[in-house]
Amino acid sequence: MSDSKVYPAIPFIDLETQTQRIKSDIEKAIDKVVQHSGFINGPEVFEFENQLSNFSQVDHVISCANGTDALELVLRAWQLSADDIVVVPAFTFAATAEAVCAIGATPVFVDVDPETFNMSPEKLEEALQVLKKSNQEPKAIISVDIFGQPADYNRIENIAEKHNIKLLVDAAQSMGATYSGKSVGSFGDVTATSFFPAKPLGCFGDGGAILTNDQALANRIRSIKSHGQGKHKYDHVRFGKNSRLDTIQAAILIEKLKIFSDEIERRNAVACYYNKVLSGHVQTSKISPDVISSWAQYSFLTDNRDNVARVCQHHGIPTQVYYPKPLDQQQAYEKYARTDIPTWCSEEISKKILSIPMHPYLKKETQDYIVSVIQEAL
Ligand SMILES: *Cc1c(COP(=O)(O)O)cnc(C)c1O
Repeated sequence: MSDSKVYPAIPFIDLETQTQRIKSDIEKAIDKVVQHSGFINGPEVFEFENQLSNFSQVDHVISCANGTDALELVLRAWQLSADDIVVVPAFTFAATAEAVCAIGATPVFVDVDPETFNMSPEKLEEALQVLKKSNQEPKAIISVDIFGQPADYNRIENIAEKHNIKLLVDAAQSMGATYSGKSVGSFGDVTATSFFPAKPLGCFGDGGAILTNDQALANRIRSIKSHGQGKHKYDHVRFGKNSRLDTIQAAILIEKLKIFSDEIERRNAVACYYNKVLSGHVQTSKISPDVISSWAQYSFLTDNRDNVARVCQHHGIPTQVYYPKPLDQQQAYEKYARTDIPTWCSEEISKKILSIPMHPYLKKETQDYIVSVIQEAL
């Protein structure tokens, strides 16, 4: 970059521009909550649950405190316990496995696909065969829609059904995405998601939700998230916990949901342009033709990762390594690592992956600048 033009700081995810777009609506919504003061379980919470259920075409939406709780609440509602096995991808954020360990169950890490970075159906099937040989039957599979692309649900749902294993979808990164024309939220037995500010649908703090068409499961989850509530508030029929979405966060999410479809379109336009100008230089992620990703992150593989990151930083372009190690190599989870179920692709990806600025308000000229710096670094 020999030009002397001064570029403004480039945000990795531009929440500020989004907030500016709907600022007065958000302020009004927050003000309304302050007026009625129903800060916990206020009307906005149930209004948002209904709206998300319509948006996702799923019967039941149960909001909760965060995405990690959403995963844990499902596993608890299924009454999984110590010694139960839950299969998870090795290449994901820690929360996916953390929820398994939180209830005392055992995660088994399965490798991901080298091109989509999502759980590989072949590797999943192989892992189930390996487990079967030692008479181990997993109780559940958690698939993750990494970076916003839904996993291969045709095949993963089939495998789960064939082996009679429950399927929980970790859609923390993929709200707003579709697979074969169906919205995320409707795959597997149940879906958990997060409204952490940097996720595609984020609030102004922590938040999460569970989506399912299973009425009995939805009822159990509602009870567990409110101290094991039975017929009324002080009737406790099971051991539960406290996991709620604040009313203010729900009010903010109602406003954000109004522009969410437009934002998903914008994200896809940004990703499409990156794909066009970066393919041939780096290995961009393969998106199946029947998928619309929510592009939580734009990530690619390159042998020159550390150099690209350094040069980008030098030019004021933030980058991130999601994720630097497969989970079975992290100290907290290494005791679950297995030599009979290899995770080589996850390891390769961890060494080469880099995420660059991605958000609905990224301008083409900023993308051009980002891409020119990356090309220079290569
Ligand atoms: C963010 C994330 C979570 C956890 O969500 P929180 O709301 O931060 O608890 C779980 N799984 C994946 C894949 C995530 O990216």
